[in-house]
Amino acid sequence: MRLYFALLLTLLAACSHPQPADLLLYNATVFTVDSAFSTAEAIAIHQGKVLATGDRAVLEKTYRFAESRDLKGAFVYPGFIDAHCHFVYYGLNLQQVDLKGTRSWDEVLVRLQAFAAENPQGWLIGRGWDQNDWPETVYPDRAALDSLFPNRPVYLGRVDGHAAVANAQALLAAQLYASTQITGGELLKRPNGELSGVLMDNAANRLEAVLPAPDAAAWREAILDAQAACHAVGLTSVHDAGLNRLQLEVLQKMEAAGELSMGVYGMISAFPEELAYYLKKAPYRGSHLHVRSFKFYADGALGSRGARLKEPYHDDHNHFGLWVTEPDTLAYYAPLVAAAGYQMNTHCIGDAANQRIPEIYAATVGQQSDHRWRVEHAQVVTPVDYAIYKKAGIVPSVQPTHATSDMYWAGDRLGAKRLTQAYAYQNLLQLHGWLPLGTDFPVEDISPLKTFYAAVFRVDSVGYPEGGFQAENALTREQALRGMTIWAAHAGFEEKEKGSLEAGKQADLVVLDRNLMEAAAPDLLKSKVLATYVGGKRIGD
Ligand SMILES: [Zn+2]
Repeated sequence: MRLYFALLLTLLAACSHPQPADLLLYNATVFTVDSAFSTAEAIAIHQGKVLATGDRAVLEKTYRFAESRDLKGAFVYPGFIDAHCHFVYYGLNLQQVDLKGTRSWDEVLVRLQAFAAENPQGWLIGRGWDQNDWPETVYPDRAALDSLFPNRPVYLGRVDGHAAVANAQALLAAQLYASTQITGGELLKRPNGELSGVLMDNAANRLEAVLPAPDAAAWREAILDAQAACHAVGLTSVHDAGLNRLQLEVLQKMEAAGELSMGVYGMISAFPEELAYYLKKAPYRGSHLHVRSFKFYADGALGSRGARLKEPYHDDHNHFGLWVTEPDTLAYYAPLVAAAGYQMNTHCIGDAANQRIPEIYAATVGQQSDHRWRVEHAQVVTPVDYAIYKKAGIVPSVQPTHATSDMYWAGDRLGAKRLTQAYAYQNLLQLHGWLPLGTDFPVEDISPLKTFYAAVFRVDSVGYPEGGFQAENALTREQALRGMTIWAAHAGFEEKEKGSLEAGKQADLVVLDRNLMEAAAPDLLKSKVLATYVGGKRIGD
């Protein structure tokens, strides 16, 4: 009875004196992405955390809000999390001239001059040109670069990274001359025997090697740029798939200085120096930065026939692809990674990699119930190998836009039968009932909406192919949204703090003008990010 009175008094007190709270967002459809996938009309936020979701009237009775915002019928989602991207390198790319989509060599020169005017010092580095997009589909010549930039080295990488054009200053810096011979590379010549500036493969790599290495200040700038770009598309957290010690230390300093608003789950690149250093250190968890995993590479990419396959390539009968890291080396490191308390995440594209690496994981941590060791990409997986993923709790981490980018040629590499075993996201999701999604930007576009679109519809931006590419492996809308929020958080051991809008979690959220659960395919890509909130604060306020 006494208890009952005490309870009644508390309730009365609550009614007459609502608790103070920071912010109410109302007149919205809030997708909480809780276990029931429930929606609400409003969300209450206090001290950076979600206080409650529910009806506006009820929340206003319970709390006294310092501020209320009418979202005018918009849609609220947990802040998007990209479970596999190259966030820091993306930022570096933003400091270089973007030449993707240029329709002529003249347009390349125009973009370069505009960039050079804003950035008057040092090397001019650009990437993304493709002479196949130009009226005259021939390689360019350095003549214009030499006359426009006689005193600045210029290096412009082709879209595929296998060719580049450099001016005289840049060629000189790399000590490349008309007489230079490079194995696995080529220096194109003018009819008179002079270098045209176009470099192929290892010749381009020779020049890449002399490009100035970014210092801590340059990385800080890159991270600030990447962070702003991510928030603009609704991303509040990223898993960066490969950072070195300098980059991690810059992130940590920025976090301490209050400059980091993005949550960064930073995978440590498994370079020898990084392994030696971090395997002796405990994992790190700060307010924004979380370091408790290593990123290894088992094999290469499918497009360049680097993915390691069990059977030869369909379009190259003597070729199985390659091991970027020998399985024996991965098997050597796996127990060391486990003993140091880290998660192991390995890039695996081909079906041989997607068999061998799970075997190594299973032998190392397969007995532990919740290790969450990840296979990044899990692109071609033979169904017979699903058993080991399932039994040993190995997590596939996939990027749905890869399916719709690769679908035009993946069948050439794999042949019809193996193609059906590739990009099999629904099958992979069924292994554990959850699946983290990412993009691999800047390899793909940064926008998480493209991930959602590719996962659900499995078509390109013009709706090709009709009915979707291997549509049996499409995800439902709910699965896709979970994959880019709560399941991505789970893959980084952060599901208790992020990934859904539930009481006590970080108030990271994105406001869109579209309902992702209903919008038609063409309409979906037109979705606009109206606002992004991190820790209850609107970015840009
Ligand atoms: Zn990647």
